Amino acid sequence: MTHPFLDLTPLSAARFASIEDRVARLLSTEQDVVIMQGEALLPLEGAIRATAGPGTTALNVITGPYGQTFGDWLRDCGATVIDLAVPFHTAVTAEQIREAFAEHPEIDFVSLVHAEAATGNTNPVAEIGEVVKERGALFYLDAVASVGAEPVLPDAWGVDLCVIGAQKAMGGPAGVSAVSVSERAWARMAANPKAPRRSYLSLLDWKERWVDGGRKALLHAPAQLEMLALEACVARIEAEGLDRLMARHASAAAATRAGAAALGGGLEPYVYEAKEAAPVATTLRSPSGVVASELVARALAADPALPLAAGGGALAKEMIRVNHYGPDATPGTVRTCLTALGTALAEKGLDVDLTGALRAAETAWR
Ligand SMILES: *Cc1c(COP(=O)(O)O)cnc(C)c1O
Repeated sequence: MTHPFLDLTPLSAARFASIEDRVARLLSTEQDVVIMQGEALLPLEGAIRATAGPGTTALNVITGPYGQTFGDWLRDCGATVIDLAVPFHTAVTAEQIREAFAEHPEIDFVSLVHAEAATGNTNPVAEIGEVVKERGALFYLDAVASVGAEPVLPDAWGVDLCVIGAQKAMGGPAGVSAVSVSERAWARMAANPKAPRRSYLSLLDWKERWVDGGRKALLHAPAQLEMLALEACVARIEAEGLDRLMARHASAAAATRAGAAALGGGLEPYVYEAKEAAPVATTLRSPSGVVASELVARALAADPALPLAAGGGALAKEMIRVNHYGPDATPGTVRTCLTALGTALAEKGLDVDLTGALRAAETAWR
């Protein structure tokens, strides 16, 4: 008997290329889209190592834990790094980017995370892109947590390197990822003697041996199961419609935010401004005197399948994350998460209005 996962016919180069084209369509991009055979950290690191070097002055925006990591890679490449850190309860503004350029006109690279699932904020990439374009810097964007949840438009926004993964709002596999690469970014890599070559991290290998060869022969055996899962995931998005998928995420975020505010008991949205809150996931501040990780553990004890988590590291004390993405961007998941959190707060002796919370969530969903 043939096994559905094991006894597969080889994935052809043509099929691989067609999956790349469908991913490119999701991003409305004419740039080359390379699907990398690993989790999104592979292109995230590969793109930095390919384009940054001792001659680079990078403006690295930190709105969550990933920005920190990008800064470490940039420094490791020998780049001069100017970190622009903003509090996790807010987003960076285009004006802050403009000020950074005014202070350091030598900036020729900008790294930014679009939305942060870990902190729940989202940054105004279109406006920031205008500033970066004016100054001619290379623009690197981590759109792993935004793609599928809100518009991601590398061409319209002037993004030179846009990295996505399917495991969040796209509801797909975590083991493959993609990056769109502008002509400028390819040129920067080609001119960089330290860009990885003949390496698993290398984007240039894919450029020279895959893209420039007319996508006829793969560099190595592809991650076949992950590629098939990505194809199925893109097909499901095409069937639902990208706009509907994004609307589902916007509604889930609005409903969670409104429901949490109406729940009371001291629970509050972590990101102050609704427009700076990411559609992919909603972060909440736990009431004073309540340790977020304990509250989450209590809620998960009742239903371990809920997409609830405490913040990472130092945030574990104060931040609750509702990961209402992909198949969890539904009114039902928002309801069960609010109910579980409300019940856990009530068990702590806090005064909550669960009926009010569910009503507010329903109204906000629209
Ligand atoms: C989720 C995410 C990634 C990918 O990291 P994993 O933790 O492996 O899923 C990268 N960047 C951002 C901004 C993310 O939210």
